[in-house]
Amino acid sequence: MSKELEERIAALEARLDAVERRPPERATMKERRRCPSCGGTELYFAPQLVAQLFAGIPFALGVRARAVGRAQTTGDFEAYACTRCGLVEWHAKPIDPALAARAGLTRIEPPPDDPRGPYR
Ligand SMILES: [Zn+2]
Repeated sequence: MSKELEERIAALEARLDAVERRPPERATMKERRRCPSCGGTELYFAPQLVAQLFAGIPFALGVRARAVGRAQTTGDFEAYACTRCGLVEWHAKPIDPALAARAGLTRIEPPPDDPRGPYR
């Protein structure tokens, strides 16, 4: 096998590795402005979701951590809703790692690379 052919094969293998490591494409209302379930385009966006217990003060829904005497919120939730089929898609805004840890959340690490490599 010629050196040029070996180099071309190596380059193609590197490109294939990169393609296989790319995360699968997800269709979200947030990114596509189209419902991934029914294809509808009449969507509503709620930049903040709130709850109110009894006659209390409304509070934002999100990742919560209780500090001394008061609750703190990070990663407030936002939502997209499709008027055609009713699908609702929730997202969290950026999360403060320290508050998430105090709220008892565990950050999920990415899976390790498969030691068998991409060819099986
Ligand atoms: Zn829909």
